[in-house]
Amino acid sequence: MGCPVFNRDAYEVTVMEETLPLSALNQYAYCPRRCYLIHAEGEFKDNVHTIRGTLEHERVDRSHSRGQGNIRIEYALPVWSDTLGLSGRCDVVEFHPDGAIYPVEYKHGKRKRWINDDLQLAAQALCLEEMTGKPVARGAIFHQQSKRRREVVITETLKQAVREAAKSIRITLNGAKCPPPLQTPHSGRCGECSLRTICEPEMVGAAPVLSDIAKTLFEPEEDLP
Ligand code: SF4
Repeated sequence: MGCPVFNRDAYEVTVMEETLPLSALNQYAYCPRRCYLIHAEGEFKDNVHTIRGTLEHERVDRSHSRGQGNIRIEYALPVWSDTLGLSGRCDVVEFHPDGAIYPVEYKHGKRKRWINDDLQLAAQALCLEEMTGKPVARGAIFHQQSKRRREVVITETLKQAVREAAKSIRITLNGAKCPPPLQTPHSGRCGECSLRTICEPEMVGAAPVLSDIAKTLFEPEEDLP
């Protein structure tokens, strides 16, 4: 069986403009406040993790479409879903001769399961299903540091989580209020977050205490006898 043909030019022209980026799903699942700061307030700051991630994505994006054996491989493929109002790019999509479509998302770091990565991959799968009319049953996260793939089954539960997250993100981004910082047990994520100095989670968490202290600072002292 030969390498499948995929005419990407037929798809690229129709990408919608008013859509949520696929990466917003990843950010929202990591921390709703981070998602709001980036997508509603336009804040962004790199740290070693985001720089590594960007370099890795750029390296993959520079690769050209090619056939590998019987598999057609597309790099940096634009994808979208009109139904969910999502758009973005898949780092890699494999088109197998048996008809299977297999997205692969590149992440720096070691092989480790992060639900936000799975959510982003499932969103890519939903976009590809809508674009091609074919089911996307599986995909993978490629962990650059360990050079290993972690296969992810695109379950109905995962797809439903994408639909719900897309709705929640819209509500959050359209709201006037930035979500609060992460609390225990999730606050450990703040250590690797590039927006930590902008977000100031400790200061925001301390705000009610500071407010109480501030009140007492201006309370008049009792009259002395
Ligand atoms: S520092 Fe923590 S609470 Fe603030 S945006 Fe980053 S992950 Fe969210």
